[in-house]
Amino acid sequence: MKTQKQNIILDSINYLKIFLPLHKEFNTYKHIGQAISDPLKVSYISQGKIKGIAENTGVTIGNRPTDEQRNKYFTATSIEKLLKKLFVINTSDESKKMYDVVNNIDDYLKQNLDYNFFVDTDVSGFYSNEPENYNGSCMAGKPESYFELYDYINDHPTNNVTVKIVGFKTQDLVIARGLLWCKTYRDALGGITAKAYFLDRIYIHNKLQNSSFAKLQFELYQTIRKYYKADELRAFNKTQIESYILNKYDNTEKFIFKCRNSYPSFAVNIEGYEETLSRFPYMDTYKFIDDSEILTIDDNDSVKILDQTDGYYTETDGCCCDECGDSMHRDDSFYSEIDDQTLCCDCSVYIDERGEHANRSNTYYNNYSGSYHHEDDICRA
Ligand SMILES: [Zn+2]
Repeated sequence: MKTQKQNIILDSINYLKIFLPLHKEFNTYKHIGQAISDPLKVSYISQGKIKGIAENTGVTIGNRPTDEQRNKYFTATSIEKLLKKLFVINTSDESKKMYDVVNNIDDYLKQNLDYNFFVDTDVSGFYSNEPENYNGSCMAGKPESYFELYDYINDHPTNNVTVKIVGFKTQDLVIARGLLWCKTYRDALGGITAKAYFLDRIYIHNKLQNSSFAKLQFELYQTIRKYYKADELRAFNKTQIESYILNKYDNTEKFIFKCRNSYPSFAVNIEGYEETLSRFPYMDTYKFIDDSEILTIDDNDSVKILDQTDGYYTETDGCCCDECGDSMHRDDSFYSEIDDQTLCCDCSVYIDERGEHANRSNTYYNNYSGSYHHEDDICRA
């Protein structure tokens, strides 16, 4: 398989030699073939580098370099960049010839990818190690702290929700990935009664977006259903997957039954998150945090919207209690004129004789009458 791929690259270069003038260093590019680290690229080694390696390390790069040598010493690049090093392009006709070959080789590399399903439970580690801008995701390569919400969810003892990265890899190159959310339902004794899954937005490697976008989404969807034995798998990309199936099989009946919706059936309890988290990721689906500390798709009662890519969030109609600092929806807050504070229900009491709320810590309770008094209204007789 591999030999065949390398022959196709070399055959194409030999074909171009008929039409295009060679660069004066043409012959110094050795062992051109598919890159090991990134199978969507080609790799080569220069004559000078082979000599340098032999002199400095004693390693001989022979006629058939090993995969290990290719991985360690070779330069990976796009076929376009390599051809521009090998040939001199002067006319538009020459340019067209070259780009025809670029497109053919690109297609060939894409169509002959072997990829494997992977699951990664270290979501924050995964995102922060991703190369930026390789798949159109605005969060790739951002600091790990932006993603601690995921760790918080996975470490939360009582929410029964996990979130993982799932996708396809070829060698170490991620070509498709998405978040898989899972909620486990238990009976009173802790036994598992049901599991609900949601496959969040799928991101595809830039180079494959035109050619294999829908196909990879569909394959990832199917792989996850089988891997987790999930009868129902809701998915963000429901519409795209559905149209792919319709194109291919002319029938979506089964799929509609399996996928049902493009949004999840459950919300995520993140109680106490404000004590641990100060940065937040941009979220495709679970965008809202409400005043009961639930991460949800529902914008009712939301205090935060996770729609920023710089680690922050959009504040909604929320506000903070001036006494305890807890965030709440503005509708649930009480403004105390006498104390000039916005207060939550725990920190405020209603004073009947004033007809308004006050900060609880500034009041006295009369055990005899059962009413509250503000300290400003009281003096010793
Ligand atoms: Zn309060």
